[in-house]
Amino acid sequence: MLTQAPRGTRDVLPADSYRWQFIENKMRAAAALAGYREVRTPVFEHTELFLRGVGDTTDIVQKEMYTFEDKGKRSITLKPEGTAGAVRCFLEHNLYAEPLPCKMYYLNSPIFRYENPQSGRLREHHQFGMECFGAKEATVDAELILLAYHLLQDLGIGNLSVEINSIGCPKCRPLYHTRLKEFLSDRMDKLCVTCRERFDRNPLRVLDCKERTCQELTKDAPSMLDLLCDECREHFEQLKACLDQAGIPYRVNARIVRGLDYYTKTVFELVTKTEAGNLTVCGGGRYDNLVEQIGEQSIPAVGFGMGLERVLMLLDSEGIELPKTLWYQVFVTYMGENRPSAFALVQQLRKAGIRADLDHCGRSLKAQFKYANKTGAPITAVIGDEEAANGTVKLKRMTDGEEKTIAIEEVYEAVKEMERR
Ligand code: ATP
Ligand code: MG
Repeated sequence: MLTQAPRGTRDVLPADSYRWQFIENKMRAAAALAGYREVRTPVFEHTELFLRGVGDTTDIVQKEMYTFEDKGKRSITLKPEGTAGAVRCFLEHNLYAEPLPCKMYYLNSPIFRYENPQSGRLREHHQFGMECFGAKEATVDAELILLAYHLLQDLGIGNLSVEINSIGCPKCRPLYHTRLKEFLSDRMDKLCVTCRERFDRNPLRVLDCKERTCQELTKDAPSMLDLLCDECREHFEQLKACLDQAGIPYRVNARIVRGLDYYTKTVFELVTKTEAGNLTVCGGGRYDNLVEQIGEQSIPAVGFGMGLERVLMLLDSEGIELPKTLWYQVFVTYMGENRPSAFALVQQLRKAGIRADLDHCGRSLKAQFKYANKTGAPITAVIGDEEAANGTVKLKRMTDGEEKTIAIEEVYEAVKEMERR
């Protein structure tokens, strides 16, 4: 127990964190290019926010939330998704009073869902998410889709399929609900138990069922796209026109409905094919009524969430190695007496911005070299008795064995010189 993390959680080890940092830097850069700035919201919120925001007919609220009572008897929930917190923050700080749109992103936000842990499905995962408040035009929907697409492509993730759909608005969706229910009621007895429950609460979700039999049964279900009102249809046409202009491949897929209740008009997913089947790496859409549901202002919005673990998993499965950052640039070795000189040299190197260290474990000189090698430091510095007496240091480049003895003051220049060649 003591040395085992809870089921469905994963540690990021020091030797692997460079991969996270690499993709996070890419995400930051991509968001900044389009004018999105970072927001950070708490890991937990009042439970009520998610009941209202995510929708109490969704799988997330029904069975996946980490909810508890705190010592003050408040019902608290660990973030099961990123959007509701962003909306709460937007409203609480009156960000709608500033020039709109308000564009924000969150990076590496922990998300908690009580799911059945399996490949690509954790109880704590992390999302990069982007949200844009106060813009109703489909140009933003398109910008977000493009951003996510190019980001993943840039990282080297191929065979990405961009799947888009429109699920209409409260004006046109009720008619669709009726049609869909008519269609489903003939097939009720063959649907899975969960879908039978969905029938009353949220029939759209049946289209999203992962059971093969349900998928087969709903193959010819009516499509929302045929019933969109003029406004929603025009919006969807605009979205497609923007994506066409940008020249990215996409597929209109009437089965994409998303698991959250708050979506209106555009919904989309970025899907990759893996050996184990399709994997959704990014999902999002427009939620024009969510802000009003939580606050009072009617403000259109659109956003997406991208699972970092799934991005890394795809990079792994495609054998894409991310550039490793050097652990140490220089490892300083020394003979016993010269420990303080070695220590001083390390401080001097660090001050100059060079990643450096020395042995802290009382190893022999030979063992220090062995250790230095294991860290992958491309340069070792040696302070033997002679060097200590003369105020010099011997640098050795590990790749080709080139050695050079220099005055301590010149160490920075000499290291830079060795690194350059
Ligand atoms: P799925 O259909 O796979 O359950 P979802 O619709 O529940 O996904 P969203 O709520 O849209 O997922 O979350 C956005 C992204 O977060 C997903 O596309 C995925 O990359 C990631 N994600 C969601 N749930 C998990 C999880 N349990 N473990 C790891 N990543 C997840
Ligand atoms: Mg899910």
